Amino acid sequence: MKNFALAGNPNCGKTTLFNSLTGSTAHVGNWPGVTVDKRVGVCSLGKEAVNIVDLPGIYSLSPYTPEEVISRNYIIDEKPDCVIDIIDSTNLERNLYLTTQIMEMNVPVIVALNMMDVVEKNGDVIDELRLSQALGVPVVKISALKQDNLKRLMDLAIEAAEKKRNGKTVLEESPVGHLIKDLTIAFSSLGVSDPLFHACKLAELDELECANHPQLVNMVKEFQKVNVDSKFGQDYEALIADERYKYITSKYAIFMKKARKDDRVPTKSDKIDKVLTHVVFGIPIFLCILFVIFHFTFSENLFFLGGLFNSDCFDFIPDDSIWAGFKGLFYTENGINSPGVMLSNLVNGFTNIFSTLAGNALSGAPEWVSGLIVDGVLGGIFAVIGFLPQILVLFLFFSILEDSGYMARVAFILDKLFRKFGLSGRAFLPMIMGFGCSVPAMINTRTIADEKERIATIRVIPFFSCGAKLPILTAIAGCIAMAFGFNNVDLITMGMYVLGMVVAIVSVLLMRKTFMRGHSSPFIMELPTYHLPQAKSTALLVWDKAKHFVKKAFTVILASTIVIWFVSHFSWNWTYLPDEQMSESILSSIGQLFKPLFVPLGFGISEYGWVFVVAIVTGLIAKENVVATLGTLAASTLALMASKGIDVSATGDALNDLVMTMRATSSSLNPAALLAFIAYNMLTVPCFAAVATARGELTKKDFWITVIFWLAVSYVVSSAIYVIGSFWWTAFIYVAAIALIILCVHLYDKAKKNKEIKEANA
Ligand code: GDP
Ligand code: MG
Repeated sequence: MKNFALAGNPNCGKTTLFNSLTGSTAHVGNWPGVTVDKRVGVCSLGKEAVNIVDLPGIYSLSPYTPEEVISRNYIIDEKPDCVIDIIDSTNLERNLYLTTQIMEMNVPVIVALNMMDVVEKNGDVIDELRLSQALGVPVVKISALKQDNLKRLMDLAIEAAEKKRNGKTVLEESPVGHLIKDLTIAFSSLGVSDPLFHACKLAELDELECANHPQLVNMVKEFQKVNVDSKFGQDYEALIADERYKYITSKYAIFMKKARKDDRVPTKSDKIDKVLTHVVFGIPIFLCILFVIFHFTFSENLFFLGGLFNSDCFDFIPDDSIWAGFKGLFYTENGINSPGVMLSNLVNGFTNIFSTLAGNALSGAPEWVSGLIVDGVLGGIFAVIGFLPQILVLFLFFSILEDSGYMARVAFILDKLFRKFGLSGRAFLPMIMGFGCSVPAMINTRTIADEKERIATIRVIPFFSCGAKLPILTAIAGCIAMAFGFNNVDLITMGMYVLGMVVAIVSVLLMRKTFMRGHSSPFIMELPTYHLPQAKSTALLVWDKAKHFVKKAFTVILASTIVIWFVSHFSWNWTYLPDEQMSESILSSIGQLFKPLFVPLGFGISEYGWVFVVAIVTGLIAKENVVATLGTLAASTLALMASKGIDVSATGDALNDLVMTMRATSSSLNPAALLAFIAYNMLTVPCFAAVATARGELTKKDFWITVIFWLAVSYVVSSAIYVIGSFWWTAFIYVAAIALIILCVHLYDKAKKNKEIKEANA
C-alpha cells in the first residue's frame, strides 16, 4: 500500500482531515501543538486504499523543535509516496512558507487548500488553477470539516504519487541561488539523496545539516566571506526566509483576491479578542467562565434560586419505595439542581434500584456473599459511576471552550504572564491537556525545546486535576455539603481545580528560579479564528471519555473493589470477619499502621481514618479507586460503628453517612481535613499509567526526584490546608515562611544572574 503523509502548519486542520479521510477519531483541538507523535490510518476514498500518516504541525523544516525534526526525518528517511501539504487558506502566505521548503525535496507533493468554507464565506477568491501552475504541483480546494472535495484530493494525490518529481526551489533567482546550485552539485557527487533540499538547508547554515556534512560547511563560509560587505553577508537564515517570503508575495499570493481590502479594519474576532485577552480583565473573565461551567455541572442551587422551591413534585413516591432515589431529581429544599446534578441523580436512582434488587435477590445467600456483592462490588463501582454524568458534562464544556478557540486565548493571556517569570506559554498547552489525562499531556511536553523546562512541566502536569480525580472532588465536596451545611459543591470543586493550577504554577516558577534554570524558547502562537464548536468532534470526545470510563469501571475498579472487600473482611490467618470485626482485618491493620503519617493532614486523626488512608493507596492504581474504595468500605464501617453503639446517620448515601457519623464522633474531621484529603489525592503520586509515562519521558534520576517532589508537595500543601483551616492564626506562620522562601529564591536568582552577566563580560 502507498504511504501518504499529511504535512502542514499547526492548526491548519491536519487532524480533522486525517479523521475525515480515515474515519478515525483522533483528538482535534483548536490550537497549535495538539498532535505530537505521528499517527497512521487507512483511507479508501480514492481509486486505491492508501496509508495516511498524520505528522506533527510545523512552521518550517528547520530543526528547532522536536516536531520539526520528526516531520523532516519522516519525509527524508521514510520517503512517502506523496506529501499532502495542507494549507490554512485563510492564512495563505504564511502557510506557503512551509510549502516552499517541502517542494525542495524529491517527493511528489499535492497542495490541499483547506478551510475553503471560511474563505468563501469571507468572500475571498483563490485561483487554484494558476496557483497550481505557478507552484508546479496539483492544488485542490477542500474543507476538511465539511468533507468537501476529499475524493478529488485523494484521486489527484494517487495520480501524483505515480510520477516522480524533482525538487524545485524558489531561491534559484535569489542572491544565494549560485551557492545553492554549487552545493547541490556537491551533495549529488556525494551520493546524498534530495541534494537540493540539503543544499538549501546548508545554505541556511542549519544546525543539523552542518553537523551531518561538516566537509561542505566551508563552501558556505567562503561564500559568506566573499559577500561580507553586501547586505546578505551575515544573517543567512533571516536572508533566506526573507527571500522565500518575497517570492511567495510576488508570485503565489497574487492568486488570492481578498474581499476586504484593508487589513487594518478589525474583524469581529479581533474585537472579541480585545475583551477576552485584555491585560487586566482576561484572567477574571476566565475565572468567571470557569465558575459558570462548574455551576452548571455541580450546583444543587442553580442560579441561587434556592428557597423559592419548597414543594416536591415527587412527593407521591413513598419513602420506602425502590423509586425513592428519584425524589430529589430536579430540586430539593436547597434549590434547583444543575443539569450535571440532575443527570447524576438520574443515574444514582437507577443504581440504587439495582442495588436494592440485588440485595433482595441475595437475601437467602450467606452473609459474606451478599456483603461482597452488594456492599463491596456494587457499592464501590456505583459510587464512581454516579459521577460519570458530571464528568461528561464538564468535559463537554471544556471541549466547547477548546474547540471554539477560547482555550488558545487563555494560553495566550497566561503566556504574557508566564514570560515575566521566564516560563514559556509552550509549557501551558500540555498543562491544560492534563485536565483530560496526564498521560497524553506528558507526551505532549516533547514540544518544549528546553529540557529543564520540559522536566519541570512534566512534574506539575498531575496537579491539573484529571477526569479520574473528579469523583474524589465531587464526592468529598458532597460530603462537606451534607455534613457541614456548606451547600456550594460547585465552589468547592472549582476551588480545588484552581488550587491545583496555582500549586503547579508556583512550583514551576520556584524550580525555574533555582536549580532548574534555563532559557525558555520563544513561543510564537497565533490565535486560531473563533468558530462554533463542531457537534461531531465534541460528541466524539465525550463518547470516548464515557467508553474509557465504563471500561475502566468494569476492569481495574471492579478488580480493586473485590480485593479491597476481601482484605477488609479477612484476618491475617484468613478467617472471615463480619462487618463488626472489620477492625481486625488485614486492610485495617495496614491502614492503622500508616494512619499516624496522616495525622497532620487531619483525616488520619479519627479512629476510622484508616479508611481514608487505604483509599489513597488504591488510588495509585487508578484515581477512580479512591471513591470506589470509600464506597466499598462505607457500609461495612457504618455497621462496625453501629455495633459499637455509635449513633450512625442514615440518609441512604453510604459515603455521606460515613462522613457524617465520623464527624459526630471526632471533632478533628472538619471541612479542612476533608479538603486536605482532596488536595492530597490531587497532588500526590498520580495513577500507575501516568507514573509509567513519566518514567518513560524522564531519566532515572529525574524520575525519582519527581516522585519525591510529588510526595513532598502533596504533604506540605495538604497539611497547610488542614492546619490553617483548623487553627486560622497559624496562617501567619505560613505566610511568614512563604515570604522567607520567596526572599531566598529572589536573592539566589539575583546572585545567579549577576554571576552570569560577569561571566558573559569576561
Ligand atoms: P491540526 O492542528 O492541524 O491537526 O488542526 P485540527 O485538525 O486540530 O483543526 C484545528 C481547528 O480547525 C479545529 O477547530 C477544526 O474544527 C478546524 N477546522 C479544520 N478544518 C476545517 C475546515 O475545513 N473548515 C473550518 N471552518 N474549520 C476547520
Ligand atoms: Mg492535530
